[in-house]
Amino acid sequence: MPGMQLRICHLYPELMNIYGDRGNVITMVKRCIWRDIAVTVTDITLGEAIDPADFDFFFIGGGQDREQILVCDDLSGDKGQAVRQAVEDGASLLAICGGYQLLGKYFLTYTGEDLPGISLFDVKTVGGDTRFIGNIAVDCEVDGIRAQLVGFENHSGRTRLGPEARPLGRVIKGYGNNGEDGTEGCVYKSAVGSYLHGSLLPKNPRLADWFILRSLRRKYELEELPGLDDALENAARDAALQFTMKEKRFRKRFGR
Ligand code: GLN
Repeated sequence: MPGMQLRICHLYPELMNIYGDRGNVITMVKRCIWRDIAVTVTDITLGEAIDPADFDFFFIGGGQDREQILVCDDLSGDKGQAVRQAVEDGASLLAICGGYQLLGKYFLTYTGEDLPGISLFDVKTVGGDTRFIGNIAVDCEVDGIRAQLVGFENHSGRTRLGPEARPLGRVIKGYGNNGEDGTEGCVYKSAVGSYLHGSLLPKNPRLADWFILRSLRRKYELEELPGLDDALENAARDAALQFTMKEKRFRKRFGR
């Protein structure tokens, strides 16, 4: 697809990157290169401003509560506003776990820190006294992606969707947003928040292509993307799905 370009903004890559979250950015880059789409990745960290018009796709990974405190402070004000503006203007975005929590209304940690979010997603998160840990499988409910997603989760935060919020999908196995209502993640326009580390996109190529298509449609008239041979990716996803369905579940006490 010569002549097309996708500009990626990787937010806080050195602070918000656990369980291989940066693999999501690598997947986006590779799937563009394989289709002859020019792609750039710009790392943006603490103290660096964002122009919402400069990027087509944003990525923020997960992090520990202490890193989230720094990022929360940095995103308050103009920078968080710029990310919201970009999504309102049609950019796409993927936020994993700790990043997802900070793009909601707030994250109240188990140890009592109150971290206000940028309110891109209509979700609220409160830390609990156990951690939700393990592999997770989800039935994705987003238009155009009828697929089962697999990943790995590890979070104390329990996220509740507001009345306007749409989930990314329903939990088949694992905990997802809060371990109670069966929802996982949140979708707003072309922005997705999810608890799935692991990383998400390499094993879920249909979701990766959803982001690429939505990002490109911001600038180009495009019906669909040329297909790729996803035999390996699908085999990896199916294998992960099989062992996830057989696993026993447990909850880990906070701090141990
Ligand atoms: N610190 C957050 C929590 O425990 C997010 C963790 C993560 O990104 N895996 O809920």
